[in-house]
Amino acid sequence: MFNIQDNNLKKIISHSKEYGFVFPSSEIYDGLSAIYDYGPYGVELKNNLKEYWWKSMVQLNDNILGIDSSIFMHSNTWKASGHIDAFNDPLIDNRDSKKRYRADVLIEDHIGRIEKKKQKEILKAKKRFKEDFDEKKFCETSPRVLKYIEEIEKISTQLNDYLKSKNLNGLKDLIISLGITDPISGTKNWTDVRQFNLMFSTDMGSVDSNKNLIYLRPETAQGIFLNFLNVINSSRMRIPFGIAQIGKAFRNEIIARQFIFRMREFEQMEMQFFVSPKSEMEWYKKWKNTRIKWHHILNLGRDRYRFHDHKNLAHYANAACDIEFNFPMGYKELEGIHSRTDFDLKAHQKLSGKKLTYFDQKNNKAFLPYVIETSIGLDRLFLAVLSGSYIEESLNDGSNRVYLKIPFPIAPIKVAILPLNAKDKLPDKAKEIYNQLKIQFSTQYDEKDSIGKRYRRQDAIGTPFCITIDYESLETNKVTIRNRDSMQQERISVDKINKYLENNTSLNILLNQLN
Ligand code: ATP
Repeated sequence: MFNIQDNNLKKIISHSKEYGFVFPSSEIYDGLSAIYDYGPYGVELKNNLKEYWWKSMVQLNDNILGIDSSIFMHSNTWKASGHIDAFNDPLIDNRDSKKRYRADVLIEDHIGRIEKKKQKEILKAKKRFKEDFDEKKFCETSPRVLKYIEEIEKISTQLNDYLKSKNLNGLKDLIISLGITDPISGTKNWTDVRQFNLMFSTDMGSVDSNKNLIYLRPETAQGIFLNFLNVINSSRMRIPFGIAQIGKAFRNEIIARQFIFRMREFEQMEMQFFVSPKSEMEWYKKWKNTRIKWHHILNLGRDRYRFHDHKNLAHYANAACDIEFNFPMGYKELEGIHSRTDFDLKAHQKLSGKKLTYFDQKNNKAFLPYVIETSIGLDRLFLAVLSGSYIEESLNDGSNRVYLKIPFPIAPIKVAILPLNAKDKLPDKAKEIYNQLKIQFSTQYDEKDSIGKRYRRQDAIGTPFCITIDYESLETNKVTIRNRDSMQQERISVDKINKYLENNTSLNILLNQLN
């Protein structure tokens, strides 16, 4: 069995297009960079992922409520949040390729290459020493590994210092001193580093004199902060409590590559948890544990996740980490968990002149709550699921198959109904079963092509079960049900199918593990 993990993104991109998961946007006009559309199976998978997140937040926690705030917000929102002044990326151009890069990403990629060399060294030793291998000890003593660790540490510290102090010349000097070349032209002919704001803007209002500059939100979180008191007043929630939201966000990203990993229009699933000051670190730890467990339950492999604690904290945070996933292009941020202090509420209170404090009746005290945020990109989660479940397999009969080992409860189609052929009474019986199942499960009916080809097609979109109706079914009211992963088949009575599918594909299987 071979997994895409070690291979490249290209296979995922072409599989996504061929099987109706993700299409490039506006393709007939040559596409729009970093914008994508979701196809028939993509939208089902996306909806299932949203449902998993939403239910795990809002339905399983009596102290978390959902909202759906608008994309457009008063521009003062972004003044107060710091996005107008500080939501910038440091950019650098290569004069030969005419390509533009994020300076920090060029340096991070360089660090990634050293990290790879370190891993290679460890892998070599692992092979050599087999069971006797002690990775920790090896890393502490191998001169080569120590050299790599030291190098990584030094560059990371410099990078963080320059980013924090907005030292653009420092970033350029670091790129030059590390000998970083343009991946396209191969040259070191770099321009100076400049800052670039990532927010999209447009005008609101119909008359020229009456037009206001307005931004497309770069994160959904601010809609939660601005509704903080509305939610408290309408729901009588007491601290600690959370507000969750799923919605679109927009960023004019510079490096518009890596498929749906970095998009200009994307979807976030964010939850702000309001707590009393000084209790935030305890809640930060708690949410770190809860969120990593949520990911592990998806069963894509625990070793594909790791935490990355931030040294270079954003202006609003007093602690922050990423949950990274091992994507086809390496470990990258999938979700951010941030302790945002009272930065946002305080800033909005100041700029709006409206009181945003919470009144603690028990202690007869008003204060601004502190906030722990969990923020995950739905599209990145989608890519994690797709790349984590893409499998190419050689079968015993010498043939190959590609299948998506998507966790059953979030698979786009749960069951396919396949009459052995399209004649006699088989399609009638199959349609009867299809009608019996479609109300409860996303079900597909298919009578075209050979049964083998139809199985392969369902494998390629990750359908957990295929039900085949043959001549015997007409006599016995029993059908064959085939499992996607094991390819094992068993006979099952038609009146038992619903229960069988419910037991194997319900979202409750995942939610129960969180409860
Ligand atoms: P990165 O460092 O990769 O640019 P970020 O730290 O700016 O990400 P956050 O502002 O913390 O990201 O956003 C929260 C989450 O939103 C991220 O963990 C990611 O899953 C998602 N996200 C952010 N930017 C994008 C994007 N351009 N395309 C898709 N998802 C994104």
